[in-house]
Amino acid sequence: DQVVQQYLDRYGVSAATRAFLAKPQRMFIGGQWLEAADGACFEVTEPSTGGHITRVPSASVAELDRAVAAARAQFDGGEWRQLKPLARERLLQRLADLMEQHATELAELEAIDMGKSVAFARDIDVQGSVDTIRYFAGWASKLHGRTAEPAALPGNYLAYTRKQPLGVVAAIVPWNFPLQTMVWKLAAALAVGCTMVIKPAELTSLSTLRFAELVQEAGIPDGVVNIVTGRGSVIGAAMSSHPGIDKLSFTGSTPVGRKVGAAAVEQLKHVTLELGGKSPVLVLADADLKAAAAAVVNGVFFNAGQVCDAGTRVYVARSVYQPFLDELVALTRELKISPGLDPDCYISPLVSAQQQDSVLSYIASGIEEGAELLCGGKALPGKGFFVEPTIFAHCRQEMRIVQEEIFGPVLVTLPFDDVDQAVALANDSEYGLAAAIYSNDLGLVHSLIPRLDAGMVYVNGHGTIDPALPFGGVKGSGFGKDLGPEQLEHLMVSKAVWITLP
Ligand code: NAD
Repeated sequence: DQVVQQYLDRYGVSAATRAFLAKPQRMFIGGQWLEAADGACFEVTEPSTGGHITRVPSASVAELDRAVAAARAQFDGGEWRQLKPLARERLLQRLADLMEQHATELAELEAIDMGKSVAFARDIDVQGSVDTIRYFAGWASKLHGRTAEPAALPGNYLAYTRKQPLGVVAAIVPWNFPLQTMVWKLAAALAVGCTMVIKPAELTSLSTLRFAELVQEAGIPDGVVNIVTGRGSVIGAAMSSHPGIDKLSFTGSTPVGRKVGAAAVEQLKHVTLELGGKSPVLVLADADLKAAAAAVVNGVFFNAGQVCDAGTRVYVARSVYQPFLDELVALTRELKISPGLDPDCYISPLVSAQQQDSVLSYIASGIEEGAELLCGGKALPGKGFFVEPTIFAHCRQEMRIVQEEIFGPVLVTLPFDDVDQAVALANDSEYGLAAAIYSNDLGLVHSLIPRLDAGMVYVNGHGTIDPALPFGGVKGSGFGKDLGPEQLEHLMVSKAVWITLP
């Protein structure tokens, strides 16, 4: 609508992005561009203005069936299955090249659809996706089994293992990093030779649909990658129990992950669950407070706090609690709140009006439960879904704002008296995605790392991600890993082969 057009004009959005937004959106199934058979669509809203952007097909199970059939056909003996590893590698590298050529467009789409900062979208979401594809492309030709010596069995055998791709992988993706979380699942799966059916989140399908055009342009055979845009409750649910799908890789909230995981296990599918978090941060008395405050602010407010491993609970040694709060508040007051397309945007709007309401209601509950509001706490006036970066002091461990995932720009802080108490408070959570420690006491830091319930531990930093290192949590944050060689293991079967020798 008009408001969105003016917004795109104000920030000089590229002609390519405008052309993409102007055309009717279609799903990508078996190499064809399809509407939902019944013509159903979702409306897509731009978060900085609250204006209407476009419509995206809302699939029925019939389209999902078609996508699964296309992925199965390629896996069960199509052209894809015949390709040598170096051919898969070349296709993935070509896809990464195309993403680099269209990086501005992909970043603009991500900023317009999800609301995020366009600069972060380019440097992190798009560049991170390119790096992930290149990293896994290189693995395609380096996968192998091993010869094995039977340890106890009498007799002579030649025994070895073969690594084979699992089959059709279904990816269910959240809205906070739409392109990147999708690519995290796709790159490793294609590298090992699996095929895919991908469902983006209802709120953010656009970058994935543009990506599908690049998949086609790269020459990846039709049916290897299928994009089905649809509702979680319909298409996501059907994917979790679809008999044609061998593995489900889900990133999203813990309550949905629990349901999806149960349905998939019922069908004996392989499952990876990357779920929510409420990641603790320990600031020890010896930490460099200025440097720690800068990293903590970025670790919680990046992407307006809509980050699964955001460091949202900060436990500070009591002796430095007040000076550390002063640093945090001073830095937070300087963060620029502006529309996602503003090249200097730091705090972008939240993804939807519903998410904004949910975050504001958590802030209200913190105030009601007696936490002290140090800064922020309000929505910005206007139609965009902005919430000020918010810091609470003197929280209590049992408060909802300390226990529950808020998924917005809200930081809670508590003092601690000794490190054993700090570890106990950090681990007192349903979740176990990440944790951070700020200190220069090497021995102490190393002694704390094994004690924290977390899949990732950051020391003197937060949220560093690289394709070579595995990402994923423990406890209510799920199981299985994306990224790193660890992810490859979750996408292959090791077949044991026994040849009886004379
Ligand atoms: P969500 O659980 O609401 O949705 C995630 C996906 O699941 C969407 O594609 C949605 O359509 C689908 N879905 C919804 N209901 C479904 C159902 N009944 N069956 C099957 N699929 C269904 O999560 P969200 O709000 O999109 O994303 C935010 C959540 O994702 C947060 O909890 C965040 O911590 C988590 N997250 C985790 C990671 C990680 O790697 N651990 C990364 C990003 C986001």
